[in-house]
Amino acid sequence: MFLRNFLIALSRNAFMKRLVTRNFIARRVARRFVAGETWEDASRAMDRLMGEGMDIALDFLGENVHTPDEAHQATEAYLQVLHKLHERGENWYVSLKLTQIGMDLGEELCLANLERILAEAARSKTFVRVDMEGSQYTDLTCRLVEAAAERHSNVGIVIQAYLRRSREDVARMNRKKIPVRLCKGAYSEPPAVAFQKRSEVDASFVTLMEDLMLAGNNPSLATHDEAMIQATLECARRHGIPPEAYEFQMLCGIRKERQLRLHREGFRMRVYLPFGSDWYPYFMRRLAERPANLLFFLTALIRG
Ligand SMILES: Cc1cc2nc3c(=O)[nH]c(=O)nc-3n(C[C@H](O)[C@H](O)[C@H](O)COP(=O)(O)OP(=O)(O)OC[C@H]3O[C@@H](n4cnc5c(N)ncnc54)[C@H](O)[C@@H]3O)c2cc1C
Repeated sequence: MFLRNFLIALSRNAFMKRLVTRNFIARRVARRFVAGETWEDASRAMDRLMGEGMDIALDFLGENVHTPDEAHQATEAYLQVLHKLHERGENWYVSLKLTQIGMDLGEELCLANLERILAEAARSKTFVRVDMEGSQYTDLTCRLVEAAAERHSNVGIVIQAYLRRSREDVARMNRKKIPVRLCKGAYSEPPAVAFQKRSEVDASFVTLMEDLMLAGNNPSLATHDEAMIQATLECARRHGIPPEAYEFQMLCGIRKERQLRLHREGFRMRVYLPFGSDWYPYFMRRLAERPANLLFFLTALIRG
């Protein structure tokens, strides 16, 4: 837990960011989790995943912009991404973080940017998933997504099983028919707001998964944890829920063989594919999730 919290704290450190992102080996190791820095890199990764039968959630990396101009630029970048996805004509969608389009700079600005993206996505019949960030943003993220959902049917949210509040959030999203992606949660949160024990987080995931499977709108179960996958399959069997009614999601570069097997077994499988130059915080969260990743990274650095 200490190491996890330390790495997540480092993910917000500007000095470390400069150090890591300028390092050639770090860039190479990060490529396990990130398609690359350019649209061409993303496009090549999409071709590969498409050949394997995967659906894709494309994330143009970025978070916590500091000025309205930066938020505007990120919004424009998403409009471009949507346009390019439309040209490819695939059943893929985008995932974004509200701090990337100005959530720190005011509710109105952020909602306006989100709605521009949703309108463009609607033109190309695409869906937009709003990622969930640290708990200081949970309330506002829910509020903005719920406000946007009153005017746009192509928006969904992420709910984190480690947050104590999440059962109520899931119930509200289900009532409003807002599609939910359920994940365990990737940030460092205090005991007052989040379960700390793995067993508690897992139990919460199973409860929320069942709430979503029984009453949600096209739920996504985003996990690499075999126990959570099996619990979902068991819930579907018990209640006669067909594979078309829900989907599994995993991150690019994690449990690839399981992704392929779920697809072969007839389940919907969507891979979260991030690209862009702002990969540092995302990469650090992936290191924080698994000490073996950090060991691999440090060994690569030492070997040069
Ligand atoms: C599609 C998708 C979208 C997500 N969106 C968000 C979001 O919006 N907000 C948010 O807070 N979190 C998000 N997450 C991250 C999530 O919250 C977890 O941090 C992450 O998925 C690890 O949890 P797990 O369910 O895989 O279970 P864990 O118990 O952490 O892992 C189970 C097993 O999966 C494998 N594994 C897990 N992580 C890694 C890793 N980094 N490297 C290698 N192997 C690994 C290991 O084999 C591990 O034993 C997302 C995850 C996915 C799959």
